[in-house]
Amino acid sequence: MTFTRRAANLVPIEDTVFAVVDLANKEAKRIGIENVVNASIGSLYGEDGTLVAFKSVFEHYDQIPDRTKAKYAASFIGNESYREQVYQWITQGANINLSHSVIATPGGSGAVSMTFSNILDAGETVILPNIAWGSYRLMATQNNFDVKTYSLFEENHFNLTSFKEVCSAVMNKQKKILVVINDPCHNPTGYSMTREEWDQVITFLNECSKEGPVIIIDDIAYIDYSYDIPQSRKVMEAFNNISDNVLISIAFSCSKTCTSYGLRCGAAVLLAKNTDKVREVEIVFEKFARAIWSNIPNAAMDNFTWVTTDNYFSFMSEKQNYIDLLKQRSEIFLEEAKKIELPVYPYKEGFFVTVQCENNEQRDRIHDKLINHHIFTVKVNLGIRVAICSCTVEKTKGLATAIKLLMD
Ligand code: PLP
Repeated sequence: MTFTRRAANLVPIEDTVFAVVDLANKEAKRIGIENVVNASIGSLYGEDGTLVAFKSVFEHYDQIPDRTKAKYAASFIGNESYREQVYQWITQGANINLSHSVIATPGGSGAVSMTFSNILDAGETVILPNIAWGSYRLMATQNNFDVKTYSLFEENHFNLTSFKEVCSAVMNKQKKILVVINDPCHNPTGYSMTREEWDQVITFLNECSKEGPVIIIDDIAYIDYSYDIPQSRKVMEAFNNISDNVLISIAFSCSKTCTSYGLRCGAAVLLAKNTDKVREVEIVFEKFARAIWSNIPNAAMDNFTWVTTDNYFSFMSEKQNYIDLLKQRSEIFLEEAKKIELPVYPYKEGFFVTVQCENNEQRDRIHDKLINHHIFTVKVNLGIRVAICSCTVEKTKGLATAIKLLMD
């Protein structure tokens, strides 16, 4: 007998990231933090080894009146000022001529999860990249979906051939596609697609959409750490070419953008040609929001709006320091990797670099050996994720060499 619903999955959650972070912290306590390389944490850490919380975000947050923090949000889909500002923020500098709607969510997780739950029915198939953020799979199993994956890379670029094969197969069977693309600054590889790659994806999905509806989730959780912020938005002009039967749900997260992971604020931004179709999805999402989380923290939404308007310049300049730092750390790792021929997935920008493994047995062996050498990383499908976002410049030096030595 079980008290849970019949469809519940009773296998305990296996969060590979939190487990390794915990192990690293214990080891640091035991042998001293200076003897541990912790490249497992997926949040931004400064050169002092502590979590970054932007002053340009939190000084203002602390001054928000208690009653504003205490209050419910103005609506289940979010405060109007927030909804408008999220749209401005993610499309700044791009000329998007599609209908849109913004629905506030608890982080990017809420946006992805809400789209999963309201687009497909149990038993249907969602398409994910073969190397991806682990929560997509959990969200899929929670919804009782099947998962098909496309190979993310062919040599050092987006694998359009695999993407097409998998999407076509699912469309053939299901007459509907829900596909996740995590771009730019893909977690865990740091890949960003080019405009040309997006154009090819859209052209192909338009073709597919003749057979049934196509829904693309573009998870942009790390977009604000792109090296070229205007370009990260400009690429979205590719979306203007979607056909009537394609809908895009952009999953935006304030967690990374504002270093405010715990404030649980994000949004699903819907884009489509037809206003009525956007409204249809908005209605369903609003009811889902009401039924699951009701509303999003009022002060978190207001703070995002203030930070990205009134405090724009100071926020952008503070954030830029960390984009530069990520660049510095990634260059150290990548240059060293190149010199010693450590295979790395094509990194362009973002929080993580991923070392390529031939298979998951090799990955497990290296990961274990690294732990024995007090180096903590995260296992991903066919790779080892190195979180340069939380590893200081000093600790990044020599890291590629250490991994290579243990690989051989
Ligand atoms: N998408 C990706 C690829 C992520 O790595 C994360 C967080 O780690 C998220 C979305 C969502 O984060 P949050 O729910 O905190 O916004």
